[in-house]
Amino acid sequence: MNKGKLIVFSAPSGSGKTTIVRYLLKQQELNLEFSISATSREKRGNEIDGKDYYYLSLKEFKNNIKNDAFLEWEEVYRDNFYGTLNSEVERIWAMGKHVIFDIDVSGGLRIKRKFPEQTLAIFVKPPSIDELKIRLKKRKTENTDKINMRVAKASAELATAPLFDCVIVNSDLEDALKKAYNKVDSFLNQHK
Ligand code: 5GP
Repeated sequence: MNKGKLIVFSAPSGSGKTTIVRYLLKQQELNLEFSISATSREKRGNEIDGKDYYYLSLKEFKNNIKNDAFLEWEEVYRDNFYGTLNSEVERIWAMGKHVIFDIDVSGGLRIKRKFPEQTLAIFVKPPSIDELKIRLKKRKTENTDKINMRVAKASAELATAPLFDCVIVNSDLEDALKKAYNKVDSFLNQHK
């Protein structure tokens, strides 16, 4: 393995971790590249295959599991599989960049366990479950059933926060962005 680092952002859906990850990707001096996950879930209207996710059929996804092609994978919601392909991390390290992940809590912790020294695992916490519900409703990407499913899962995910290297509470976005930048920057500089 080379000296590339792994920066993991995990959080309940709707906590704002994607916004933070996108912001960090724009800071070129950090030299980060987004790990494009594979998923068996349906593509949303504005998403692009090979940019947001690699969209696989359920069968293709399961074949990749069988062939040991994943660094980690998770059935995040029923029949909605998500995972990181080994080839994705290798692609990014080969570019001489560090990998940044926007993945669920179990996947994030699994990466941390596999590469404890190379990984900085950050948990993004919503200010409250009520606020999370409001944000998911505003996003209008899921129906009420799916929102309820995500909120129910969020409560269990919040309990795992202490297992991460650090927790960022996203109540004020500007403040959360600044904290995230500082954490990542100092980790990358410490472990050169
Ligand atoms: P969404 O459907 O909103 O894009 O993502 C649903 C959840 O799946 C999010 O919590 C997201 O972080 C998680 N997820 C996305 N990619 C991966 C991955 O590669 N592995 C795991 N374990 N979770 C992922």
